Amino acid sequence: MRRKLITGNWKMNGGLASNAALLSAVKSELGQPSCQVAVCAPAPYLAQCQQLLSGTQVAWGAQDVSAHDAGAYTGEVSAAMVKDFDCAYVIVGHSERRAYHGESDETVGRKAARAIAAGLIPIACVGETLAEREAGQTEQVVQRQLDAVLAQLAGNDLAKLVVAYEPVWAIGTGKTATPQMAQDVHAFLRGRIAARDAQAASGIQILYGGSMKPDNAAELLAMSDIDGGLIGGAALKATDFLAIVRAAA
Ligand code: PEP
Repeated sequence: MRRKLITGNWKMNGGLASNAALLSAVKSELGQPSCQVAVCAPAPYLAQCQQLLSGTQVAWGAQDVSAHDAGAYTGEVSAAMVKDFDCAYVIVGHSERRAYHGESDETVGRKAARAIAAGLIPIACVGETLAEREAGQTEQVVQRQLDAVLAQLAGNDLAKLVVAYEPVWAIGTGKTATPQMAQDVHAFLRGRIAARDAQAASGIQILYGGSMKPDNAAELLAMSDIDGGLIGGAALKATDFLAIVRAAA
């Protein structure tokens, strides 16, 4: 059976003092969670996460990584650099990176491959805009985005991937996909992966992201192909994040 994974995405929020307060509250109330728990922090705070979370039940990760190995790419952070801070995860292809930084499907695939090569687990995000959903293109869009990632991965690397279905219209808007809407897309994504490798598909965690909150987490996480959550806004408040972790139990 797949273990659930609840991952916070802090986005460009936080600071040394507020991160320390948030992590201290999460650690002190977490207990022994039955699911996996992680936070994805801005790059400058990965050392702080390493310092405060080593040896705890909370893993940490980055929110992006370069598609290049090393070299003249000012401002970029490589997968190996992220790994230096003992990160377990890195988000790739978040819709905010696709929309505001022009990341193509192919770039996202290359980032996922770099992450795996460095020993990180990429959380590859896919999801349709409202216009695409209304035009009946949801499956077409997520298939294209997922296939671009799968195309960059060697067969035995598939098992090292986490996928996050994040409908763009649900991110930070308070609108959530219904459990059935999300389940349908998750099952579709698992089917696509199964077409390449049935065994890997049955083990891959597919997270839902998009306004997951304490009051809707349990019903989303109860769906058979929803293996956890990628949590934005609610990950910034310890009580909300912990409530979602408990809903995954
Ligand atoms: C996200 O940014 O990945 C996300 C899901 O955000 P929110 O939970 O705030 O919708």
